[in-house]
Amino acid sequence: VISLHGIVKRFYIGKPNELEILHGIDLQVEQGEFVSIVGESGSGKSTLMNIIGALDRPTEGEYFLRGRNVGETGDKELSMIRNQEIGFVFQTYNLIPRTTALENVELPMLYGKVKKTERRARAKELLELVGMGERMFHKPEELSGGQKQRTAIARAMANDPSIILADEPTGALDSETSRKIMDIFHELHKEQGKTIVLITHSGELAEETDRVIRISDGRI
Ligand code: ATP
Ligand code: MG
Repeated sequence: VISLHGIVKRFYIGKPNELEILHGIDLQVEQGEFVSIVGESGSGKSTLMNIIGALDRPTEGEYFLRGRNVGETGDKELSMIRNQEIGFVFQTYNLIPRTTALENVELPMLYGKVKKTERRARAKELLELVGMGERMFHKPEELSGGQKQRTAIARAMANDPSIILADEPTGALDSETSRKIMDIFHELHKEQGKTIVLITHSGELAEETDRVIRISDGRI
């Protein structure tokens, strides 16, 4: 479902300097697989994840996402793919401040043009699924880190994406809370067949996934 061929990523940091971060990545992730990406800080994990999530484009190489050639896909269609087919989860949660957990989860459906009553019902259902049933009317600043991450996972699931990309989702959480967040990912994988790509610093958590991909200095 994710297929990368010879992906190179360079950043231009003012000419004549350019920085090559990914040096030709080949990677396949099958539908329904739960894989983890591990590697040292600065090795290129987030850079790779941003390409997989179509948040950024590679400098060279080809990327097929569910059979579609991302390099030949226009910006408008790509933003649709990001909203409908991929769910993102980040270390810093990236929730909208001053709006409730419920409204945060409803937001992606607003862009997806889902009707209000349907939006609300689905958001509630998702928040209950991640154990946020009691706290859905609270704003992010009134929630603990674990509760914020549960909310972010519910939001990632809003449009029922087939792929979930999580960049260090437990990086800011204690080990007990990390465990609970991992359990939610395992459940989404097992019960709903989601394809999950998880970046983690924890070798222990990585070992729980179907496959561990190691990245070092921009190479797998
Ligand atoms: P961490 O574990 O700390 O999150 P990472 O493996 O996710 O690290 P990346 O964020 O992918 O690492 O960064 C890889 C390298 O690319 C770093 O040296 C970083 O400074 C560089 N880099 C990332 N984005 C840019 C950019 N927009 N411009 C220039 N350099 C960048
Ligand atoms: Mg990173």
